[in-house]
Amino acid sequence: MNFESMKLKIGWLYPTLMSTYGDRGNVICLQHRAWERKIEAYVTHLDQNASADEFQSVDLFVGGGAQDRQQEIVMRDLRGEKAHALRQQIEAGTPGVFTCGSPQLLGHYYEPAFGQRIEGLGLFDLVSEHPGAEAPRCIGNVAFKVSAFPIAEELKAMLGTTPIVIGFENHGGRTYLGEAECFGRVMRGYGNNGEDGKEGAFYRHAIATYSHGPLLPKNPFLADWLIQTALRQKYQTSVSLAQLDDSLAMSAREAMLKRLGLTTVGNTP
Ligand code: GLN
Repeated sequence: MNFESMKLKIGWLYPTLMSTYGDRGNVICLQHRAWERKIEAYVTHLDQNASADEFQSVDLFVGGGAQDRQQEIVMRDLRGEKAHALRQQIEAGTPGVFTCGSPQLLGHYYEPAFGQRIEGLGLFDLVSEHPGAEAPRCIGNVAFKVSAFPIAEELKAMLGTTPIVIGFENHGGRTYLGEAECFGRVMRGYGNNGEDGKEGAFYRHAIATYSHGPLLPKNPFLADWLIQTALRQKYQTSVSLAQLDDSLAMSAREAMLKRLGLTTVGNTP
């Protein structure tokens, strides 16, 4: 099977409510990198009007960050058949990247600064709590080593070096993992809660992270991993993507690693 006949449907979760922190960049990046390989990538908006069937037809999910109030609206909508479809898809191995507000909603619950606890989908074994409006937000550049299995090994094979993710975090909520495996280990920044050195979570092929960035343009290897995994799941065949010219992204990475005092790590995949 060649790339020309491959299609990828990217499902963007609640783009109008959950796109406060520039995570649209992840959607653009995925679509662009797929098209560069002649893979027909389309974006579908999974908003209040979307049916459960639409959730079911997606090959790759993207969910962005939001403010507490918008998260509440989303969770009132993401119930019943839609929630079931999303859960089924993730359990079946459909990949996804969920940033900040999204993973808070995919855990057991999110307790906002004001108001009631918002029940989540329980897809990830984690809980998130906002310590209150007076507590400082976790804001700033973040760098972490991907550690989750098997993505860490797969990325290492792809890059020939330890995968280091660079992002920007901005959250009030603190996340605590239960049985869920963390996505990475914090090198700089707060990560899930600023206490336990864990960043994000990883389950099946779903990435949960506090990293905006937007994440994928700053870490193009993650975008390629998502595309590759989505195609492998869909077409049941292993896919190796052609290299793209990522020199600009690499320069940006080098500059940020330097700023964070991580140049000795030598990781500029
Ligand atoms: N509202 C959440 C918090 O402050 C999520 C923020 C975000 O998505 N960046 O923790």
